[in-house]
Formats: sequence, structure tokens, C-alpha cells
Amino acid sequence: MTEFLATGVLPDEYQQLAKTVRDFAQSVVAPVAARHDAEHSFPYEVVEGMAEMGLFGLPFPEEFGGMGGDYFALCLALEELGKVDQSVAITLEAGVSLGAMPVYRFGTDAQKQEWLPQLASGRALGAFGLTEPGGGSDAGATKTTARLDNGDWVINGSKQFITNSGTDITKLVTVTAVTGEHDGRKEISSILIPVPTPGFTVEPAYDKVGWRASDTHPLTFQDVRVPEENLLGERGRGYANFLRILDEGRIAIAALSTGAAQGCVDESVKYAREREAFGQPISRYQSIEFTIARMEARAHTARTAYYDAAALMLAGKPFKKHAAIAKLVASEAAMDNARDATQIHGGYGFINEFPVARHYRDSKILEIGEGTSEVQLMLIAREVGL
Ligand SMILES: Cc1cc2nc3c(=O)[nH]c(=O)nc-3n(C[C@H](O)[C@H](O)[C@H](O)COP(=O)(O)OP(=O)(O)OC[C@H]3O[C@@H](n4cnc5c(N)ncnc54)[C@H](O)[C@@H]3O)c2cc1C
Repeated sequence: MTEFLATGVLPDEYQQLAKTVRDFAQSVVAPVAARHDAEHSFPYEVVEGMAEMGLFGLPFPEEFGGMGGDYFALCLALEELGKVDQSVAITLEAGVSLGAMPVYRFGTDAQKQEWLPQLASGRALGAFGLTEPGGGSDAGATKTTARLDNGDWVINGSKQFITNSGTDITKLVTVTAVTGEHDGRKEISSILIPVPTPGFTVEPAYDKVGWRASDTHPLTFQDVRVPEENLLGERGRGYANFLRILDEGRIAIAALSTGAAQGCVDESVKYAREREAFGQPISRYQSIEFTIARMEARAHTARTAYYDAAALMLAGKPFKKHAAIAKLVASEAAMDNARDATQIHGGYGFINEFPVARHYRDSKILEIGEGTSEVQLMLIAREVGL
């Protein structure tokens, strides 16, 4: 079923989806990307457009309001959006893979019926809060607590850097919290917090270097009460379940990164053909040609890596190592290509209205979010038996 992923030649329905999202990215996203970035404003009109196209429902069954596609379809959409505007792409990535997917994977029927139709339609956004002020890589160090009291979970603590948590359409934040202790080890569970809920505060947005049109906030919880039924998945499985979500999410981030790496190639080819220096287009200089050829090789390698990881995941085979490899090489490809593309653009590459300048600022977080490069290396090392 997924043999095509090994050949890189996509069946018609995937090609059609990629083309539709590419056209949308060019005609709707690109014209407003620089303005939203400059104003640090959330692109509601773009998100509405993506919702109308069904992008938030891509990997979910139709019975939950989804498009009946798969995770690879989501990845293709992220690659196309990532070429043009990483803020928009991460809004979709976080909304689907962190906001809605945990409910789909681990929710009860009632939780799925309540949340998925809203989240899959894009009318509502979900967020996932794992990272805390004290640490992100060491997710087991969670300090936020949830204790049962009269049939309610009472949640106290804080989360840091949570994407999509403070928009006007954010309706759900799922958090990991310590719900007990066994044999000296923390019991960590996931809990659904509808927005708004008394005691739950969305703190002011960060002033970020990149992804400036995406929504990121610290969150605090002071005696936040939600019903006992809001436990997501088994009690004590919150950490393990979230690791599964992160494994998948790494393929999605690799796809977004591939888009960013390819966007830098496309912009550089266009610019190098037009820009003249010393009496001829700079594309005629071999050092420029070679730089762009290397950028294309990086983008291609990144794409191959995420196709490979997606093929294993869709075939139901172990994919942890492949997802970590894809995230590692694709995020590095994006950052390296952004640096090279900026160099090729000369001074214009340092001016924000040029897409490569945005990629230069945006790409760094790809090597940090959803597991830093060091965390990917740790996972790969473990998988090869170290
Ligand atoms: C814009 C943005 C959006 C985000 N969105 C979300 C979100 O929606 N939900 C969420 O939960 N989190 C989110 N995050 C948090 C992100 O996932 C974390 O920042 C990331 O996992 C790193 O955690 P940290 O910042 O605590 O760094 P730390 O874990 O403190 O790491 C600091 C440095 O130490 C290195 N390091 C740590 N441990 C080791 C080790 N054992 N060996 C070698 N090196 C190590 C790291 O690689 C890194 O270089 C977001 C962050 C940003 C900036």
C-alpha cells in the first residue's frame, strides 16, 4: 500500500492534494506572510482558508468530520506550506498532530465525539502542553500536578512555549501532569482542559525570533478543576502516550522542514538567475551553482528521509529511529539552506520582506522544537544499541 513512498513517485490523489495546497500557499499565504510576521499577528484568514480546505481533518476518519486521509497526506500539506510560511505550517502541524491527534489516538468514544469534529473542521484549535519552565528535553521531570478531589482533577503548575494555546479559536489544551507516584517514580497522565476554564491563564505571547505569526504562550494553572472523565488515555500512561505522539510529530516536522529547505532552493534559483554582478547573472558563477546544487541535495535527502519514516509508520512497523533521523536531517537541511539562501541574496537576504530572511529566522527552531537535535541523536544512539 505504501510502496510508492520508496519510489518517491506519488499516486494521483497525493499529487493533487500537494498541488491544491501549493496553489493555496502561493495565492493566499504568500501575499500576507511578511505582514503577519512583521506584526506578530495570527493569520486568522489563512487558518480559515485551510479549515475550508479540510486540512485540519486530513488524517482523521470522516465519522469524526475528517477527510479520511492519512498522516502522509498531512505531511505533504506541511511540506507545501513550509516552503512559503513556516508560521502557517506550524499552526497546522501543532493543531493536528499535537492538538487533535492525542484525542484520536487515546481518547474515549465520548471524548472523540466531543472534540474531534470541532478540531478536524479547523473551527477550533487544540494545543498540547508538555514543556515546563524547568525543562523540555527531560519531559519526565514534569512538575505540574493533578489530584483527584470529589470527582474532579485539580491541576496546579505551569507550562512553557505552548503553540496555538492563546488564539481566539483555541478550545482545548491537553497537559501532562503528575497524578501520583509508584516505587519512587512519578506517575504522569494527560488531562484535557477546555478553554476557558477558571484558574487557567494564558500568559502574554513571547517575542520570538521566528515563527512570529504562530501563537506561543506560557500557561499557568491555579486550582484548575475539570471532571475526572477528562483524563486522556490510561492513568499513568501520559508520558508514554505523548512519546508516541512526538514520534509521529517528528515526521510532520521533518516534512515542514523539507518544505523550508526546498523553499530556500526555489527562491535562490529565481534570484540567482535575475541578479547580475560583474556583467552576468550570478547563477553563472560556479560557486553559486554548487551552493544551490548542494541545497537541492539536502532538500531531496530530507524528503527521502521523511517519506521513508512515513512509509514505515503507515505500514504499522517500528519507525522511531527513522522519525528521529528524518527530523534531524530535515531540520538541519532547513537551517543550512536558509543560511546559504541568505548568502546568495546578498544584502537583500537580510531584509525581512524577502522570504529567505524569514526562513533564516524561522528555521532555527526546527532544530529545537518537538525534540532538539541532541534528543534525536540520543534516540538514534539508543536504537543502535548504545
Ligand atoms: C516556538 C516554540 C514552540 C513550541 N511549542 C511547544 C508545544 O506546543 N508544546 C510543548 O510542550 N512544547 C513546545 N515547545 C518547547 C520545545 O519542545 C522545547 O523548547 C524543546 O523540547 C527543548 O526544551 P528546552 O527548551 O527546555 O531545552 P532544554 O531541554 O533545557 O535543553 C537545553 C539544551 O540542552 C540540550 N540537552 C538537554 N538534555 C541533553 C542531554 N541529555 N544530552 C545532550 N544535550 C542535552 C538540548 O539539546 C539543548 O541544546 C516549543 C518551543 C518553542 C520555542
